[in-house]
Amino acid sequence: PELDELARELDRAHVFHSWSAQAGPDPLVIAGGTGSRVWDHAGRRYLDFSSQLVNVNIGHQHPAVVAAIREQAELLTMVSPATANLARGEAAKRIAARAPAGFERVFFTNGGADANENAIRLARLHTGRDKVLSTYRSYHGNTGAAIVSTGDWRRFPNEFARGHVHFFGPYLYRSEFWAETPEQESERALRHVERVVQSEGATTIAAILLETIPGTAGVLIPPPGYLVGVRAIADRYGIMLILDEVMAGFGRTGRWFAFDGYDVVPDLITFAKGVNSGYVPAGGVVISEPIARDFDETVFPGGLTYSGHPLAMASIVGALDAMESEGIVENAARVGRELLADGLAHLAERHPLVGEVRGEGVFWALELVADRETREPVSAAVMARLKAELLRRGLLPFLADNRIHVVPPCVVTDDEVAEALAIYDEVLGLDLPSAG
Ligand code: PLP
Repeated sequence: PELDELARELDRAHVFHSWSAQAGPDPLVIAGGTGSRVWDHAGRRYLDFSSQLVNVNIGHQHPAVVAAIREQAELLTMVSPATANLARGEAAKRIAARAPAGFERVFFTNGGADANENAIRLARLHTGRDKVLSTYRSYHGNTGAAIVSTGDWRRFPNEFARGHVHFFGPYLYRSEFWAETPEQESERALRHVERVVQSEGATTIAAILLETIPGTAGVLIPPPGYLVGVRAIADRYGIMLILDEVMAGFGRTGRWFAFDGYDVVPDLITFAKGVNSGYVPAGGVVISEPIARDFDETVFPGGLTYSGHPLAMASIVGALDAMESEGIVENAARVGRELLADGLAHLAERHPLVGEVRGEGVFWALELVADRETREPVSAAVMARLKAELLRRGLLPFLADNRIHVVPPCVVTDDEVAEALAIYDEVLGLDLPSAG
């Protein structure tokens, strides 16, 4: 308990936090973890159904990943990106092996934002065009072009990059297109994006940047034909398609890449989070051959001191090998199909608060509403109460706007899912007078 107090005290005194007013409530202390559990110094345990920032796909403290980092640390902890290093080559080979044919090369970054930053740079250099189209319901990271590509409120105070245009993606539950079926939503959203392309001037547009499944914006599963349709529009106008797989990739959907489920191949793939479950910061861009070849004889104007950092690379090799040999991606698919789909649908049947359930694999959202007819979102006060009640019962949740995102590690067990569903059920059933 004294260590928890000390952690809070030091945090209050010296740590400046992301996306928050610094005088906010004391953050939760987390001192350790294993698999889908974390705990504080006093030993209070939480079932981690957030996977932290939806990134600890392999679970906490996987021994193979910890060992890979330790072994690399004993061998060599830093080497310039210009050198060849075995861990880096092995990591890149494993990532390329999971990408579609024609993706052989990986540019490594420190995380997801700079992955998008460099994908945008590559698309601009390849096309000789400038504009980047992305959706209002998106998050792409907190740096120059990535934050201005982002659609949500985090963009507004940060709009210092130029050449960004936004459009609405499909979201049937709150359709911008008066659609009543997924097919209508898909067709009308496609017509909208094509009209935006034409109105902006197709020859000015370098890239369309999309999260394959918008994550923080609400786990918005694309309707039938949507991603294939965007690919066709990109092809028609010579635009590069960048799919941001930072949150959706590396197991979250029960597939290595989320786009593998949607019959679409992008020109550039960005990744981070799940590739090594964040044990060491890492991300990157997987580059299709036509774009990579531009830089055979021409200098690529970009780089980072820690591009392909040995500890990050070793952790990628360790994580991907363990995910493969232990069937961890398959487990995520099975848990989604056999447990979460029905379990969460059952919560919706029991609790009028749940307006919609959507997701796949271990990537789900419960959209909470004060009124099922009007679909009015529940208030921030209701969400704060739900958060406190979930934590009180030992479940660490991921909340965004009026939603609970159900996003455990891909290694989550059947018993842990049952335990979490029981906690969600109890909390959603509480008398929440301010819900209306
Ligand atoms: N892209 C998506 C889809 C994300 O969810 C995130 C982070 O949440 C990012 C990019 C940014 O990644 P990072 O925070 O590693 O820069």
